[in-house]
Amino acid sequence: MHPLLENLLAAPGCGARLEPAADGRGLVCAGGPCAKCRGNLRSSWPTVGGIPRFVGSHPAGRAEARTVRAFERQWRRYGGLRRIFGKDPRAMAANLVGARMGGRIDAGWYRGKTVLDAGCGHGRYLAAFASLGAHVVGLDIGTGPEEAGVPLDDPRIAVVQGSVLEAPFRDESFDLVFSDGVIHHTPDAHAAYLELARLVKPGGALYVWVYPREGFLRELVFGTARAVTTRLPGPVVRWLSFAVAPLTLFVRSYSGTRLGRATWSECAQVIHDWIAPPLQSHHTWEEVAGWAAEAGLVDCERLPIPTGITAWRPA
Ligand SMILES: [Zn+2]
Repeated sequence: MHPLLENLLAAPGCGARLEPAADGRGLVCAGGPCAKCRGNLRSSWPTVGGIPRFVGSHPAGRAEARTVRAFERQWRRYGGLRRIFGKDPRAMAANLVGARMGGRIDAGWYRGKTVLDAGCGHGRYLAAFASLGAHVVGLDIGTGPEEAGVPLDDPRIAVVQGSVLEAPFRDESFDLVFSDGVIHHTPDAHAAYLELARLVKPGGALYVWVYPREGFLRELVFGTARAVTTRLPGPVVRWLSFAVAPLTLFVRSYSGTRLGRATWSECAQVIHDWIAPPLQSHHTWEEVAGWAAEAGLVDCERLPIPTGITAWRPA
């Protein structure tokens, strides 16, 4: 097991400490699978290719399974681009300090801290956190980090496959839980928020960005378009994303990616991200702030991006 994970992992759902299974195949609840784990489809979790895999203990709904596959295809196809969401690695690192994270997290803050990138997808932020001096764990329900070539031999970076709805980590394990554009792609963003809040250490922070609820017309147009595009076969969505890349000249994206400033493929990635995954919910800042209060987090900071919020667990 990656040394970083030794004191962090716990069985998903039941929260027990993990130990190697008696048959040597994977990890189980300490002392053997508990009643809760035995009731799941899977009660031991394998490590494959250096990544502990906490998936398959529950049946996934159709929309959920299609959403996971859409992102796996996205990072297989676009994970090697120089810029993802219009940002090169330098711009991504810059995003992790200063106002974009709230007022209290500067470059020096990260040294020696333990960070979770919850729903790390393409995995580019993992290296960015490491460059700031943090130890970082990337959690993703799909194989995106591998598709995109995240380094798996870096002592500062570990990758775990699992869900943000049942995160396989002990309570209060991380100084920062960072979840950028993820929980709105789960069946229950509210439940995902509470689950991520559980992982924040006293004195630590939860950063979340979700899609904002837009005006009636924009919601109607996008909702109608997505009702079609999310039902198309993967290769068709990929072709369509490429074909309509010039739309970025007329329709703003949250990342600001625009043909001319970004390449055709970079624009296609941003469009694919919007039109492919069936699960996508939209929220207000006040709604997310309410979830933070429910989770016992305080000092909610309103970030410069719409519906971005950093909240803190009292020390
Ligand atoms: Zn258990």
